[in-house]
Amino acid sequence: MWPEVRELYADTLATIGNPSSIHRDGQAARALIDEARGELAELLGADSMEVTFTSGATEAINTWLKGRVFAERKARGPGGPPPRLIIPRSEHHATLDAVSWLDSVGFARVDWLQVDSQARVELDHLADLLAHSADDPVAGVSLLAANNEVGTLQPVGEVLALAQSHNVPVHVDAVGMFGHLPWLFGARGLEAMSISAHKVGGPVGVGALILSRTARPLEGLIHGGSQQTYRSGTLDVAGVVAFVRAARLTIDHLDKESVRLARLRDRLREGLETLGLGITFRGDSARRLPHNLHITVSGCEGDVLLYLLDERGISVSTGSACQAGVAEPSHVLLAMGLSESEARGALRFTLGRETSDADIDRVVAVFPEIVDMARRATR
Ligand code: PLP
Repeated sequence: MWPEVRELYADTLATIGNPSSIHRDGQAARALIDEARGELAELLGADSMEVTFTSGATEAINTWLKGRVFAERKARGPGGPPPRLIIPRSEHHATLDAVSWLDSVGFARVDWLQVDSQARVELDHLADLLAHSADDPVAGVSLLAANNEVGTLQPVGEVLALAQSHNVPVHVDAVGMFGHLPWLFGARGLEAMSISAHKVGGPVGVGALILSRTARPLEGLIHGGSQQTYRSGTLDVAGVVAFVRAARLTIDHLDKESVRLARLRDRLREGLETLGLGITFRGDSARRLPHNLHITVSGCEGDVLLYLLDERGISVSTGSACQAGVAEPSHVLLAMGLSESEARGALRFTLGRETSDADIDRVVAVFPEIVDMARRATR
């Protein structure tokens, strides 16, 4: 968290009053929420009424996907096939697991959208899937703005144009993109978008669903006090205030910081490339997030590399999911066409505000030794 945000968060925790209460303390808390909502809307080129605060992007994504499907089922009445959703295979688990559940219980059918070897969605395949939407309507398309594992930016504009020509709504998981590249909700004609506070230096447990005022209806998932149209529950004043301050700071620094991070990422790439260790760089090399570098290392288990780097104080991620205690290769890499053994050598580096040149040089310096150790452990 930004130090300034940490301070504001702690100070705001002292706020007395539930923002839904009528007394003056409650109304003062409500004013903080209203102000934060207006500021976030302004940062996103959206309207205040389009912002729903949630417990994070997982909730925001689930709210849109399930809310859309439930609303569609309600509108269609009993009988008939369940509504269709079009989802790339390389989505974050917040989307993947939500739609797989909808499919498994028969509430929706998922049409899996193919991605290419960079994890970019195949627009021709999308056009095919949309082609018969007049006879078999699609409740929605949802996709990442930028793949969170391999960093590739998606052609959101093209997806939107195709979907709009079939009158199909689009939701974007903008968690990785928000705060790293200029991204305005209002300017894009999106129906919905999800973001998370902890990716912009805010607290964990806060996020938002941005839903266009002209959006098709949703069924809310969490019923209770009707504090927000699609999401009941007492609002987290300190979390919301800290989230929006973090978003403001991140966006204020975006231009300079994205250039700095892209330079560091390129330094890391060049450093690793020079080592000649059988490293392959994954994802689109040009149209990608500035702070992400993804590699696979031949003959190594990514998990072993992760532990060896961790022992040296370097935190990375593999993207593999643990199923029943066994590490499964990343679904993103498999969707990109990698074999299981190639995908097992995956590592993702995510750079942040505090990453320095010295940090990058240290990773490059320790890499030959850890690759050697990981290869010996794998043999
Ligand atoms: N989508 C993406 C791309 C993410 O990276 C994350 C979290 O890392 C999420 C969704 C889920 O966000 P949250 O942790 O706020 O629920």
